[in-house]
Amino acid sequence: MKSSQRLYVLPSLSEGARITLDPYQAHYLTNVLRLNLGSEVLLFNGHDGEWAALIISTSKKGGEVVCVRQNRAQNSVPHLRLAFAPVKGDRTDYIVEKATELGASVIAPIITDRTIVRKVNIERFRGRCIEAAEQCGRMSVPDVVEAQPLSMLFNDLSVDEILLFADEAGDAMSIKDALETKPSKVTLLIGPEGGFTDAERTHLRACDHVRPVSLGPRILRADTATFAGLALVQSVWGDWK
Ligand code: SAH
Repeated sequence: MKSSQRLYVLPSLSEGARITLDPYQAHYLTNVLRLNLGSEVLLFNGHDGEWAALIISTSKKGGEVVCVRQNRAQNSVPHLRLAFAPVKGDRTDYIVEKATELGASVIAPIITDRTIVRKVNIERFRGRCIEAAEQCGRMSVPDVVEAQPLSMLFNDLSVDEILLFADEAGDAMSIKDALETKPSKVTLLIGPEGGFTDAERTHLRACDHVRPVSLGPRILRADTATFAGLALVQSVWGDWK
């Protein structure tokens, strides 16, 4: 039976390569999806494209598949980093999951003055990204970096990068205008529930590579702002064109 179940794995993928599955992957394929030996799954690792592979063994301790052919060549996502202040409850999980589906290449939790949630579980975020990438057909998983203070983000900007700072203040430019110069990298910065402080806003607006952008006349919750912002960036600059 054919299956389109996709799995993210770490080893290199090539014809005949045998890939070890971890116990969770083996359990999922055999007990949840009820796939048998010989069933086909799709593998990707972020650089060798997507490969069709056949299940050759499974047990409680894991399993093994063998790559049979490349299904799709590797593609890349635009250099689109999401920098966001973690928010309360499971909204942060959704932000990470949806940012993966929307095509972010890097996910960077940022601690701002009014960020309430200061401890984040990066491994949990990475797990969400992997699941979302498997489900949405991506051939790479976004890089989730450790939480950092807002000031660190500036040190991290490259010369060909624009930082779009979602400013709810009302007089900011549109994302389309902000990306007129066609930078090769974009960072979208979304603030916490309480917004940015005046000091942060003043500092951000004074920086060379930073463009304050508007997401319309209504105040959006941070998660909504993230999804709307990523969709707009993708449609005017990224890979939705
Ligand atoms: N409590 C704040 C709103 C914070 S909304 C207030 O009442 O002003 C959380 C974040 O979403 C903001 O910091 C901003 O980055 C983004 N955001 C929400 N609505 C926006 C809009 N209309 N334009 C630009 N950014 C917005």
